[in-house]
Amino acid sequence: MNKKRVPIIAGNWKMNMTATQARELTSKLIPLVANVKDRDIVLSPPFTSIAAVAETIKGTNIGLAAQNLHWEDKGAFTGEISADMLLDSGCKYVIIGHSERRQYFGETEETVNRKVKQALKKGLLPILCVGETLAEREAGRLNEIISRQVTGGLKDISTDDMKKVVIAYEPVWAIGTGKTATPEQANEVHALIRQKVKALYSTDIAEGLRIQYGGSVTPENVSTLMAMPDIDGALVGGASLKPESFAALVRFT
Ligand code: PEP
Repeated sequence: MNKKRVPIIAGNWKMNMTATQARELTSKLIPLVANVKDRDIVLSPPFTSIAAVAETIKGTNIGLAAQNLHWEDKGAFTGEISADMLLDSGCKYVIIGHSERRQYFGETEETVNRKVKQALKKGLLPILCVGETLAEREAGRLNEIISRQVTGGLKDISTDDMKKVVIAYEPVWAIGTGKTATPEQANEVHALIRQKVKALYSTDIAEGLRIQYGGSVTPENVSTLMAMPDIDGALVGGASLKPESFAALVRFT
């Protein structure tokens, strides 16, 4: 592997895995990735399984991410989870603005941005998700949508804080559909995101930014995706639910 930036491979379990199942999957995964040193490995369980995974991964090379957070510190927000709760549960990262949250739970550029700011204020590393729908791509609106989501999500984020942000490019049409963007298609959008970040910040910040690709990544296609110059990792849904396939992804060469 010859990458400019440390690759980050994250498994987004979505609304799957009870605490018992999470413990079992994680216990099987640990030995399969124990000797992997040159990349970051992250698991993102649902809230109720975070404690079980945190306990199981103690002392290993696996990090923990939440799938969402609330932008306020605490208070009367029934059903919500705060940054302090996530930190106290062992989370290092938090996924923000996943397309399923934008699509089904009314997340907007504004709420996504508030969440990114709150994560950074509290010391969580945000994984900011962006991506276009098929209709938007076919209407020739790819650049407009990606630019809007990048600019909106990063509004008022300082240069120092920007060093802690990971961006995940996930074309909505490729999530859970078995349709992967070709490595060239994905790299083109990654380059666009990097260009946008360069314009908003600087060459240094843009060159240091890690951009993950997500959308039907499998052990079979991960290597060709990761061979592209602007692809620095993967955000994986379905293929992260089995220890063998997630380990194979993590161990891409
Ligand atoms: C995801 O939800 O982040 C994702 C990329 O899912 P899948 O790998 O199943 O397409």
